[in-house]
Amino acid sequence: MAYLIDCPHCGRRTTDEFYIRGDASKQRPGAIGDDTMAQWHDYVNIRDNVRGRTAEHWHHTGGCRQWLVVERDTLSHEVYAVTPTSTWTPGSAAKAAARKTPAGKTPVSRTPARKTPARKSARRAGK
Ligand SMILES: [Zn+2]
Repeated sequence: MAYLIDCPHCGRRTTDEFYIRGDASKQRPGAIGDDTMAQWHDYVNIRDNVRGRTAEHWHHTGGCRQWLVVERDTLSHEVYAVTPTSTWTPGSAAKAAARKTPAGKTPVSRTPARKTPARKSARRAGK
């Protein structure tokens, strides 16, 4: 399903122009060594299949070729924020939405992410 993404550099574009790398909240492990090989394996290969709100790295392959963080809902396809990776931090879109929301109203972007940890646990148990 193609929908529209507001690239901060190029403007509104269809998702067909983007490559999705995956979860933006994962922390990159330290230098490769015997003690970090399992961490690197998980960082590169293990992905949660998030149902609900998520933040992902998207590459604008068909446009500016910049890496972006797209915060979206995988069920409703609502896009909450598109931020250059250089300025994104976890929760930055929620903080920005809170600044724009009138007093007494709760912004939609404060909805916590719902993950499905059962799949990840099943994979690890199979080692
Ligand atoms: Zn772009």
